[in-house]
Amino acid sequence: MLANYGYTDGSGDYFITIDTDKCNGCGECVTACPAGVLEVLDDDPNDPLREEPVAVVGTNKRNKLKYECNPCKPSIGRPPLPCIEACKAGAISHSW
Ligand code: SF4
Ligand code: SF4
Repeated sequence: MLANYGYTDGSGDYFITIDTDKCNGCGECVTACPAGVLEVLDDDPNDPLREEPVAVVGTNKRNKLKYECNPCKPSIGRPPLPCIEACKAGAISHSW
């Protein structure tokens, strides 16, 4: 299942999508994120039947992704997003 976190405003789309079918809860994205945006929960709030841990965007970050993720925003000379780089399962995508 695709879990979308974020919003659209007049300046653009600010969404992080986590494919929970690919996520294995390894926590590498949590370690890689410089802003503490991501967490791993033992219980998936979107799927009570899931038995594995799963990554989510923290509830206190969901309405602030434009600002929290801005230091990673792609531009010339910047590396790929750390969260996406860290996820070997390919579970994370960003609207940028
Ligand atoms: S790095 Fe990928 S597989 Fe691991 S917890 Fe984060 S989203 Fe899930
Ligand atoms: S884009 Fe940067 S700040 Fe945003 S979740 Fe990924 S690593 Fe964290």
